[in-house]
Amino acid sequence: MTEIADAERLILARMAQAPVVREPLVRTSGRVLAEDVHAERDQPPFDRVTMDGIAIAYRDFASGIRRFKVRGTQAAGAPALDRQAPGECIEVMTGAMLPRGCDTVIPVERIQRRGDEAEVSESAEVAERQFVHPQGSDRRAGSVVLRRGTVIGGPEMAVLASAGKAEVAVAALPRVAVISTGDELVDVDEPIAPHQIRSCNDRAIETALTRHRLGTVTRARLPDDERVLLDEIGRLHEEHDMLILSGGVSMGQFDFVPAVLERLAVELVFHKIEQRPGRPMWFGIAREGKPVFALPGNPVSALVCTTRYVLPALRKSLGLAPYRVEHAVLTADVRMPARLGLFMPVVLESRPDGVLAAEPRPTNTSGDFITLAGTDGFVELPRGPEVYERGTAVRLFRW
Ligand code: AMP
Ligand code: MG
Repeated sequence: MTEIADAERLILARMAQAPVVREPLVRTSGRVLAEDVHAERDQPPFDRVTMDGIAIAYRDFASGIRRFKVRGTQAAGAPALDRQAPGECIEVMTGAMLPRGCDTVIPVERIQRRGDEAEVSESAEVAERQFVHPQGSDRRAGSVVLRRGTVIGGPEMAVLASAGKAEVAVAALPRVAVISTGDELVDVDEPIAPHQIRSCNDRAIETALTRHRLGTVTRARLPDDERVLLDEIGRLHEEHDMLILSGGVSMGQFDFVPAVLERLAVELVFHKIEQRPGRPMWFGIAREGKPVFALPGNPVSALVCTTRYVLPALRKSLGLAPYRVEHAVLTADVRMPARLGLFMPVVLESRPDGVLAAEPRPTNTSGDFITLAGTDGFVELPRGPEVYERGTAVRLFRW
């Protein structure tokens, strides 16, 4: 049997880089940048006025001039006007280019307008170059403004747009087949008999992947039938970059998945991890280096294994940095199973003293997925101690 940390390492070592695709900007929200992005121009691209008011030459003010003749109006989006003579000013709007011959802006609140004259209030304090955002003071043209491996959120989108990137190189989303196996399974909208179960794993795994934009998902549901499993898994392998199966990996008479994967020449990397839930998990590599995760069917196991192993694997192939390692402090003692590591669902509370507290929410067997709803994630308790005591800081994984 494999240790939790070894399982993670073995999986990550086998993840290949996703190809790079060029996408129109509108389709890149939440995607992973696959190129460094450079500033198209200086930022700001010109000396930018930051207040509505008048622009003057500071030396006029320093020489005692308080009444300026308004020579023109400079709006945002217009080429720079010229201040031509001492004592002249240009009326300016926020976002306008600073007019030539000017270096200082006095806000409209600090002047009185009389006809074509603007008089600076006696009490107004004026500093040289005030209310001017100088050209290139944020970034110089050509400098790197975004690095590859960055997720495109709001701020990154603003930078891409300002850099004139109508098309962006991003990591292609892996095409993932999420396959539920089990004769008892019925889809959400089908009639159901007393001996049947609604399939929820495929839906849960799909959401875990797509809400973080880690892949595109095709769902499939297959019976416990070796022949059908062989044909269908073989076909799904052709059309996808990764397979995630759930169910059929334990020791039951109808648990055909490991044997079927072997017959499909999937290279076994490991079977079984010293963990609860999710002990029977199977991982291998199919032709063309495509990863195959075969997770236990119990919904708690399937979701915990997806979060602990599959999501980090997808992040790696997309070129993203690993999840930030997070810790939380247990609010109650947790008794450990013999010889196994434990994933314990938790509800988090961020306390005023800055401590992130994790309240254990044990499930009623690994079939009890109802209890998972409303939890924030789970903590990982490595095997060894008999009890993890309240107050212990432990590693946290969020859903
Ligand atoms: P298995 O790993 O196939 O032995 O399944 C373990 C338990 O999980 C059984 O009670 C199954 O009915 C249940 N199960 C398996 N697959 C799913 C699924 N897709 N959705 C809900 N429950 C499932
Ligand atoms: Mg089954």
